[in-house]
Amino acid sequence: MINLNLKNISKVYNKVTNQKAVDNVSFEANKGQFIVLLGPSGCGKSSLLRMIAGLEDISSGELYFDDKLMNNISPDKRNIGMVFQNYALYPHLSVYDNIAFPLKIVKISKSEIKKRVIEIADSIGLIDLLERKPKELSGGQRQRVALARALIRKPDVFLFDEPLSNLDAKLRVQMRTEIINIHKSAGTTSIYVTHDQTEAMTMGDILVILNKGRIQQIDTPHNVYKCPINIFVAGFIGSPQMNFFNGYFVQQDNLYFLVKDSDLMIRIIGNIEDTLFNKEIILGIRPEHLNFEILNSNNGFRITNIEFMGYEQILHFSSSHCICTARTEVNHSYHIGSIVQLSVESNLMHKFGLDEQRII
Ligand code: ADP
Ligand code: MG
Repeated sequence: MINLNLKNISKVYNKVTNQKAVDNVSFEANKGQFIVLLGPSGCGKSSLLRMIAGLEDISSGELYFDDKLMNNISPDKRNIGMVFQNYALYPHLSVYDNIAFPLKIVKISKSEIKKRVIEIADSIGLIDLLERKPKELSGGQRQRVALARALIRKPDVFLFDEPLSNLDAKLRVQMRTEIINIHKSAGTTSIYVTHDQTEAMTMGDILVILNKGRIQQIDTPHNVYKCPINIFVAGFIGSPQMNFFNGYFVQQDNLYFLVKDSDLMIRIIGNIEDTLFNKEIILGIRPEHLNFEILNSNNGFRITNIEFMGYEQILHFSSSHCICTARTEVNHSYHIGSIVQLSVESNLMHKFGLDEQRII
């Protein structure tokens, strides 16, 4: 097991435009940790992973495995196991030979190879498929072969680049658990890239959230959900997405948040700091934290759609000035067209400045 340390790493593909695909990224993966790099398509995740693997030059910055500077070490000397979205299996080789491939090129005895292939194939549910070719396997089985092939070298670092994106939803959930179980038993320091926030939240010890090549936040899934550092992270983590309202806190018979350019008020349960009055902010409320009660008036948020999800439902509200959603238990006492008063507990709301940074 090793520590992985990235210091101020940048990637420039085009020296003319000098645009940074990865911009000054620093983070550490401690021995045995499972780090998830999360961000939208094009934010630089694969570039970063490929630099760690040595498949791409590092434009500036330093990469360390423990105390060893790795920038100029060739990929085959980095002892990395890598799994890609498209599996990258050799189509003409059997499952056995695909898994054995990394050992064959480093010249290990045939009997030792056989022992290791069988051990891994057994642990990962491939033992009955060793004679097949990749085209005779399902998507999930192919992904398992790719995992086995990456594992067999007992790598120091495991890199995953969106390995589950090509699988259907059910298999994705199953493979998530399998990958985490493999990680727990092998204990290898791992960097896992995904654009899927559910995958990130359920798998990562630590999330490194990227946007436009830059780190936005590094923290545990719990803290990222509870205290997103800016509007980007707040909107990216959580489904349905957090609601955002521009406006002002006002004290009347109660404490309210007045939505800008409207007469819509969200009731605040609890208190706020005095310094928050009389200035425009962006209020963030997760759909699961938005409460509502039916009003006998025409002045409020109107329910425009109800999505039944089985154990819960998603309510959509809109007015001429904003739209928002709430997640609630199923209840039949309201319907499309009902007008409601929205409210939130002050300790569950998120406050952002107009610069989109969290107000602390
Ligand atoms: P992600 O994996 O998060 O989708 P990538 O690392 O693939 O993002 O890409 C980040 C940015 O770098 C994108 O704007 C992409 O177009 C650009 N990019 C990626 N690879 C290359 C390349 N080989 N040459 C030029 N630009 C590239
Ligand atoms: Mg990518």
